[in-house]
Amino acid sequence: MFDINHIRAQFPILNQQVNGKPLVYLDNAATSQKPISVLETWKKYYETINANVHRGIHTLSQLATEEMELSRQKIQKFINAKHDYEVIFTKGTTEGINLVAYALTNQIKKDDEIIISYLEHHSNIVPWQMLCERTGAKLKVIPMDENGILQIDVLDSFLNEKTKIVSLNQVSNALGIVNPIEQIIEKTRRLSNAYVLIDGAQSAPHFKIDVQKLDCDFFVFSGHKMYAPMGTGILYGKESVLENLHPFHGGGEMIAVCSFEKTTYAGLPFKFEAGTPNVGGNIALGSAVDFINQIGHDSLQIHENELLTYAQKKLLELDGIKIYGEKANRTGVVSFNLEGAGIASDTGMILDKMGIAVRTGHHCTQPIMDFFNIAGTVRASFAVYNTLEEIDILVEGVKKAQRMLV
Ligand code: PLP
Repeated sequence: MFDINHIRAQFPILNQQVNGKPLVYLDNAATSQKPISVLETWKKYYETINANVHRGIHTLSQLATEEMELSRQKIQKFINAKHDYEVIFTKGTTEGINLVAYALTNQIKKDDEIIISYLEHHSNIVPWQMLCERTGAKLKVIPMDENGILQIDVLDSFLNEKTKIVSLNQVSNALGIVNPIEQIIEKTRRLSNAYVLIDGAQSAPHFKIDVQKLDCDFFVFSGHKMYAPMGTGILYGKESVLENLHPFHGGGEMIAVCSFEKTTYAGLPFKFEAGTPNVGGNIALGSAVDFINQIGHDSLQIHENELLTYAQKKLLELDGIKIYGEKANRTGVVSFNLEGAGIASDTGMILDKMGIAVRTGHHCTQPIMDFFNIAGTVRASFAVYNTLEEIDILVEGVKKAQRMLV
């Protein structure tokens, strides 16, 4: 049974005052808080088995390796990858996308095309622009309408034999919009031979992910947005696709044989994991997966949908508020501005004085802000430990900001 008090008790950070008020943490799309089980796993690693992995004959090194590989298997199950060696540890979504964009360089030529969407985080724009600069390929962008809904019909004319990569997020971080990735993948498969990369930074914390059912080539996400430590993340890649990719970083761990004349590379996943990994963090990421599994995706989604529906309803009762993407299918995020209240950070500062943590600004999605002709928004984003009472506090805070600023 879903017991919110039991869940909140697992997050000691929530039990504090900020600016003399109980903390209301609504900045989960930026990073989530970490439960005791994850913190304990991380601490236990450093207290008992800290050693470098994969190359040690001694006991601690073997234990550390076993724990990290066990975590890899948990993540494999979490996203339903076919093999554990399709799961590559990274330091986050940004690194995962950059890895793929660099590794693909020698497969892309002048006038090839890369498709992204209007709703992307900068980390799913810039690496592709850099790939275009290196190769002479061209970037195409799926447009959106005034509700933030992607106009995916354009794919019928966008997709062709020149299309090499289609890369987009499952959920937009700025607006929380859930994109129809199943339809986009189906069209891509039917009309081109392009690789598909899904940025799951904002979906992995909320949805059950099944990479085999999705039939994507790559799926990337960040551990720190799903209750795991900072500096953790995953790149999933289909075995056949990863086998064909050039490595990204060269160094220790990723070689089979190294000589001055010629180096051959290790097999998967190590070919893409050069250098010493974030062993403690990667093990704790497995613990975060356990945490989500214990709650269960059904309960998680029912609770988070309730939070979003309630927040939207309560905020829309206020005069002079605009919610971006209000009519779109969304999860986890409500992004808004108050008419006549100046810049979003003014509202954010007033909320902070009331102990309420929200994010303000462009959320690393400047093209979206340009589309709506605004500098930024106030974004409240939810996690499993948030409550309806906290939404009431947010709404009271927004009312106060209106009284002070408008
Ligand atoms: N993609 C999306 C949709 C995001 O929300 C974020 C972070 O907010 C990123 C990519 C980048 O994630 P990270 O900073 O963990 O690499």
